Amino acid sequence: MIVVLLGPPGAGKGTQGERVAAALGVPKIATGDVLRAAVKAGTPLGLEAKGYMDRGDLVPDAVILGIMKQALAAPEQARGVVLDGVVRTVPQAEGLSHVLAELGKPLDLVMLFTIAEEALVARLSGRTVCDACQTPFTGRTPGETHAECTHAPKGTLVRRKDDEPAAIHNRMAVYEAQTAPVIAWYRAHGAHIAEIDAFGALDDVTARALKAVGKG
Ligand SMILES: [Zn+2]
Repeated sequence: MIVVLLGPPGAGKGTQGERVAAALGVPKIATGDVLRAAVKAGTPLGLEAKGYMDRGDLVPDAVILGIMKQALAAPEQARGVVLDGVVRTVPQAEGLSHVLAELGKPLDLVMLFTIAEEALVARLSGRTVCDACQTPFTGRTPGETHAECTHAPKGTLVRRKDDEPAAIHNRMAVYEAQTAPVIAWYRAHGAHIAEIDAFGALDDVTARALKAVGKG
């Protein structure tokens, strides 16, 4: 089964994707992992990608898709794969669809995690990080001293800039602008899209996600 994950940052897509992949008995792969593996292995496309990265440039979609095609053709992916962060734009959706057609592997499901911005703000506002040792926490108050801190002096729990409401609002706006056309593209091409409500306890969201792949 080949599943593409879509969803805003902070919706728990990565964690849920791991659980769905485990239930299906297939790997979950993300663009970053596949890219790093190709660079490390020194494949021709990996070296090409490294050239862009060394210059501080974005690796073009064509190079990433080439690397993704090789990864998808590998025996580990024979039973399917859960793709996380592989499709963010319409050209990437088109590119992936060509690659899958060439490999004779149809896309089975687009799993779209949805969450309201207010819910994301509420969830992420509970996250803090120690400003000395960078240990992350949930459910602790900003300003609190990190009592177990290994640094001297002990650090203070702070909220990440990324987790501030204004930053979340910006990320959501970027996500909506990029993703709405991707969803429209998949709809127009007859893809099976399962919308998963990502609001709620981790296990409840997992239950909804597993139901969508027939493992609930
Ligand atoms: Zn600390």
